Amino acid sequence: MTSEEMKKLEYNKKTVYESKDPEAIDAAYAYAEGYTRFLDSSKTEREAVISAVKLAEAEGFTEWKLGDPIVKGGKYYLNNRGKNLFLFSVGTESPAEGIRISAAHIDSPRLDLKQVPLYEESGLCYLKTHYYGGIRKYQWLALPLALHGRVVRADGEKVDVVIGEAEDDPVFYITDLLPHLGAKDNAKPLGDAVPAEKLNLLTGSRPAGENDGVKLNILRILNEKYGISEEDFLSAELSAVPAGRARDCGLDRSMIASYGHDDRVCAYPALTALFESAGGPHTLICILADKEEVGSDGNTGMQCELMLDIIDEISKAAGCSPAAVRSASLCLSADVSAAFDPNFAEAFEKRNTAILSSGVVLTKYTGSRGKSGTNDASAEYIGRLRKIMAEDSVVWQAGELGRVDYGGGGTVAKFISKHNIETVDLGVPVLSMHAPCEVISKVDLYEAHRAFSAFNRY
Ligand code: MN
Ligand code: MN
Repeated sequence: MTSEEMKKLEYNKKTVYESKDPEAIDAAYAYAEGYTRFLDSSKTEREAVISAVKLAEAEGFTEWKLGDPIVKGGKYYLNNRGKNLFLFSVGTESPAEGIRISAAHIDSPRLDLKQVPLYEESGLCYLKTHYYGGIRKYQWLALPLALHGRVVRADGEKVDVVIGEAEDDPVFYITDLLPHLGAKDNAKPLGDAVPAEKLNLLTGSRPAGENDGVKLNILRILNEKYGISEEDFLSAELSAVPAGRARDCGLDRSMIASYGHDDRVCAYPALTALFESAGGPHTLICILADKEEVGSDGNTGMQCELMLDIIDEISKAAGCSPAAVRSASLCLSADVSAAFDPNFAEAFEKRNTAILSSGVVLTKYTGSRGKSGTNDASAEYIGRLRKIMAEDSVVWQAGELGRVDYGGGGTVAKFISKHNIETVDLGVPVLSMHAPCEVISKVDLYEAHRAFSAFNRY
């Protein structure tokens, strides 16, 4: 038996199931249904922007462009090139009191088509890919894959493509070697077994005619269906992602298995918390960023200065100094962390790793090799957040990404904190992160919503 003194002084992590009553658990499971619908309609950043705009407009947010007027109580969104979304609601108090910023990302690891992707070999037609983000390449073989994206034709017409998601749609596929002939491959290190140039999508096998090959037939089909020719691939962004929908995982339906939890599992609760808290005292910004998985570069990534432009405009409209507003602002960099995996226990240090179903995870520092490249939030800021979370009894845990010197990772946190904004990482623990199908817990997802919501209100 633990003594009363020990109970009082010792820190013990509790799961959401231990901390909440059954009604609260039911609420979490009900909340997860909306998230599952969001996942299914948002497999790429472009689709996630469309889904988020739909939700935001239903909540009274209106499209806003740089230079447009901003009024107290206004609810706006800025759609940055269809791949990155900024939503903001102006509070009743001055933004000089500090803006509450939640920043998640909506891009996920996948296989992008190359610019000249189509080729025929030995009676089979393929599309060549260049992988996007950190993947374990062997995981992408022998799976049904769907193609999502946009083609801009020579005539300037934009054609949106989704192939492989409807029940009767065809899918794409990357072949793997049969085990009977795998002895040599089996001896290779896992990381070398599948070179990137083998990630070619099987796309066809029926020749166009007696003298014409498979490639012509594929080009004909593309031309009939989308009005495109081979050259149009040059101005296209097409991505292969796992085909199919998000599913409940486990007999108890306590988890969700899906592609792209990283980082929709933070983007969605950041959105719903914004909707819930808009109209309160604080000015709120919710950022859905692109390009996080490849370093946050480019004009749709978090390193673009658009966030500063928006803070400038909000500040100017309220007659305050943008620098003072930034300095008083707080940010939750909303990204996932690795959940402890008993199957791969050796890669984690259990005391300091997020445990599935133990709530939202606050990550003080990321980085690798001695915290290199980390934002490392201050004790003072985390102390402030502890109080905020306590106000709403949010179940949260501390967690870092795996054992020291085993690897590591980064988020958008450092690209926000460098603008003199208090920032820390907060998100949902994920099993099999970056795999074609990842797993999260429904109760952690709901605690994320509750955490962002408390952050926006207090
Ligand atoms: Mn992420
Ligand atoms: Mn990631």
